[in-house]
Amino acid sequence: MHIDRDIKLDFKDVLIRPKRSALPSRAEVDITREFLFKHSGKRYRGVPVIAANMDTVGSFDMARALAPYGLSTALHKHYRDEELAAFFKALRPKLKASAFYSLGITKADLDKFKRVMQRAGDAVHYVCIDVANGYSETFVKFVAEFRRAWPGLTLMAGNVVTGEMTEELILAGVDIVKVGIGPGSVCTTRVMTGVGYPQLSAVIECADAAHGLGGRICADGGCTSPGDVAKAFGGGADFVMLGGMLAGHDESAGEIVEQDGGRFKRFYGMSSRTAMEKYTGGVAQYRASEGKEVLVPYRGPVSETVQGILGGLRSACTYVGARTLKELTKRTTFVRVSMESNELFGEN
Ligand code: 5GP
Repeated sequence: MHIDRDIKLDFKDVLIRPKRSALPSRAEVDITREFLFKHSGKRYRGVPVIAANMDTVGSFDMARALAPYGLSTALHKHYRDEELAAFFKALRPKLKASAFYSLGITKADLDKFKRVMQRAGDAVHYVCIDVANGYSETFVKFVAEFRRAWPGLTLMAGNVVTGEMTEELILAGVDIVKVGIGPGSVCTTRVMTGVGYPQLSAVIECADAAHGLGGRICADGGCTSPGDVAKAFGGGADFVMLGGMLAGHDESAGEIVEQDGGRFKRFYGMSSRTAMEKYTGGVAQYRASEGKEVLVPYRGPVSETVQGILGGLRSACTYVGARTLKELTKRTTFVRVSMESNELFGEN
């Protein structure tokens, strides 16, 4: 047994200290970023926020709604082959940067990916290989073989939370390492297993490791407000992935549920009982569900939420004098706090 006594931080443990700046207004801040990916050699330009590949969030509708703002969507993996092929083909003329094909590491996942590539290969540019535990050798092997087979695809993969595993994945061929174990809004991994890592520290440590090798990271999970998104970027994230913050909108799949006079949408983890019953016929006997289902208040079209997030991000940049999102991390000093916000009138 070993105890790491360093203090590890979550978003709620810090605030970003304001800095003197010559920036006249937030309208002058550029929150797009450009990357040249280490392995694929491809260029990206966009606002590096990605809708999570959860079936209620990473939908075709979400991708179409986010694309005009320059945001990306990791599509969930439960669409049929022909639906995916048709979507990517339709995307080809205009929205290249906006959609990741997601897959797990089973043979069925890989076979399906090959079939979609046969139909729409030249329209797929971004791929997300997603497992709950990115520490397994099988996962690293899968990623390395995938990279050999498709050298030109930009590959995001995870999830991990430590520098050494981030390095291993980048050396295995990953362009963007997905970071986060346990912080998600509908994730119960920490309670079910006791495993996890405070998300801001995971982001800071993994970003440092990735950038040393010319790789990128995506902070995945745990953002509850535009301020958290700013903190993730301030901590060094190149991309930020959002689930819960984008749930409950018109573009989030599922019906509106009326209850106690309010309107809601169902939102659940991809390893929740709900998801497993929907896609695999129930929770297998050897495993427990590591996600939960919640009702989130219905919030109308996602565009207003997106504008709030992007506005918050621009404003954060202005407070520290960052003219571009890229400069935010260099200009970020976190202060540790014991109270993040005043909750006299409830949150927000
Ligand atoms: P959020 O933005 O809602 O805080 O976090 C979204 C992330 O939570 C997803 O991108 C994914 O990494 C993670 N996630 C989604 N469903 C589950 C689940 O059922 N269990 C766990 N452990 N994590 C999940």
